[in-house]
Amino acid sequence: MTADARREENERILKRTQERIERREARPLPFLLRMVIGAFLFLLLTALLTAIAFRLFGKPLPGTQARETAVAAAPGATVVLDPGHGGPDPGAVSRSGVQEKGLNLAIAGKIAAILRAEGVNVILTRETDEMLKSAEGRGSAKSQDLLARVEAARGAENAVFVSIHMNSLPLREVRGLQVFYSPNDPRSRVLAGVLQEYARTFLQPENAREIKKAGGIYVLERLGIPAVLVECGFLSNEEETELLSDGKYQLRLALSLSGAILQFLGESR
Ligand SMILES: [Zn+2]
Repeated sequence: MTADARREENERILKRTQERIERREARPLPFLLRMVIGAFLFLLLTALLTAIAFRLFGKPLPGTQARETAVAAAPGATVVLDPGHGGPDPGAVSRSGVQEKGLNLAIAGKIAAILRAEGVNVILTRETDEMLKSAEGRGSAKSQDLLARVEAARGAENAVFVSIHMNSLPLREVRGLQVFYSPNDPRSRVLAGVLQEYARTFLQPENAREIKKAGGIYVLERLGIPAVLVECGFLSNEEETELLSDGKYQLRLALSLSGAILQFLGESR
């Protein structure tokens, strides 16, 4: 091909392209069609985002969907929140000196506030740093304290019992929330499952712990109502102790536990 022929060929291509552009500009897509395409793309994007969100948060967020059903479905339910230990009984103590009893009280208080804001009846077995006294008034201080917690739950109408504790082990690496359930009422296992699942979903995605039937847990063995004990984390683990002592983490923990309790109240009655 000569240089002239090449130039001519190039010009032809240029001209054709130019014409094509002009044709397109002269006939823009009708307004309605553009709107339909726009709406379709918008819906597609929304669906995609919803699908992603659903994969991330497979359950309703704590306190949203559950809230609507909880109070309506369980108008008479009373949640008995039991912050473990207190007074001369510190419970587990971390190497840095953090005592279980104080964390239990702080977290139970936050759960109580959230549940009450959702219209749920709440009783706290203790609201201060104290050991409880049983109505029967017999036995050692510790056994009276434990019996008093059982009595509080027995005295409440339509009660759901949730005891809040911190764990401890000689192994420093072990961490993560774990829920124990009473063997006496099948609903206890359901409540434990929801609590454990919420913690995994919203708090500790790496937590592979399974719920466990209580063996040798005094309060759970004596109650015939939905009753669980939440070991919120390990004070033998330095990192987890720091988290559990942090007000913001306590709130996240309380939200996760409250959301699960609301979901349970909504579904089980
Ligand atoms: Zn404890």
